[in-house]
Amino acid sequence: MRILISGAAGFLGSYLSDLLLSQGHEIVGVDNFITGRRENIAHLSSNSKFSLIERDVTDSLEIDGPIDRLYHMASPASPKGYVKHQVATLKVNSQGTWNLLELALRKKSRFLMASTSECYGDPQVNPQPESYWGNVNSIGMRSMYDEAKRFSEACTMAYHRERGADTRLIRIFNTYGPRMDPYDGRVVITFIRQALNNEPLTVFGQGQQTRSLCYVTDLVQGINLTMESNFHEPINLGNPDEATILQIAKDILELIPQSKSQIEYKEMPPDDPTRRCPDISRARQILGWQPRIGRKEGLKKMIDFYAPRLGHC
Ligand code: NAD
Ligand code: UDP
Repeated sequence: MRILISGAAGFLGSYLSDLLLSQGHEIVGVDNFITGRRENIAHLSSNSKFSLIERDVTDSLEIDGPIDRLYHMASPASPKGYVKHQVATLKVNSQGTWNLLELALRKKSRFLMASTSECYGDPQVNPQPESYWGNVNSIGMRSMYDEAKRFSEACTMAYHRERGADTRLIRIFNTYGPRMDPYDGRVVITFIRQALNNEPLTVFGQGQQTRSLCYVTDLVQGINLTMESNFHEPINLGNPDEATILQIAKDILELIPQSKSQIEYKEMPPDDPTRRCPDISRARQILGWQPRIGRKEGLKKMIDFYAPRLGHC
């Protein structure tokens, strides 16, 4: 197949490209590098089945030739990134989603929207099933991301119901692994960078808020299985192994025993969700998917990748 991936130079988009290329498909990546990195796709530069169009998907987009599948992965994804790029985040998850749904209709391609667990906001139900409607602050410091993703979900379902677009919808929970931007502020890469440099690990609040970490290769398999399924409603993709942020900091320090870092408590940012854990019953049932790589195994892989690149200890 010929497959378009928006956000192909990002963390997840680059792994999705690798997976789909390994299945023999041709990939057309589109990225404007607002948060993506050229080094994420440098290894694909000599691959004749991979091409990259440097473009903002909020501008009108014409692509020559057929497109069988369209994965919409483009969007700033870290709290630091989307607060820095508030209007661009709103635009890529509204006008960008709209443009790509129109393109999918013109090309008769199947379309997948990468939505997020942030649609659940600060959840009052734990773990979160897809049937939960969420608890989101529509004007808060995460609203440019949460509400835009919720719009993208509504837009995807409207194109499916009214225009007959062949759509898929996933809600991705916190994913980690090599190729994350070391300075984008997301918790796992931040703690690993700090620990490798003997700097304090900056735990926000008392570190009692929880997240559930999914290793990147597990996640992209789930994304691909969703695209190839026949299910149009949202599917949660993530690892239900819920842990406090303090525990994650301790795990990382344990895996880097030579580190002299200590834990330093910092002020909790506004609207930081207190709990987050996916209910993945639907993914298990419909896709036969569940993550395979445990937290310590995945963290070790990530530390082995970054130690020679970032480490001084
Ligand atoms: P990332 O920032 O590494 O990748 C996003 C990519 O999209 C970047 O390469 C960026 O340059 C590109 N992009 C952004 N706006 C664009 C635009 N207007 N036109 C063209 N390209 C544009 O982030 P990621 O972690 O790889 O996330 C990918 C997708 O998955 C995002 O939609 C994000 O919301 C979603 N998601 C990720 C996670 C996670 O834990 N990584 C969790 C939930 C949802
Ligand atoms: N966090 C932290 N220290 C950091 C970065 C993040 O304690 O240096 C916490 C943050 O407050 C949140 C969790 O880790 O509760 C996950 O943050 P991240 O930015 O990775 O993503 P989120 O899940 O909040 O979108």
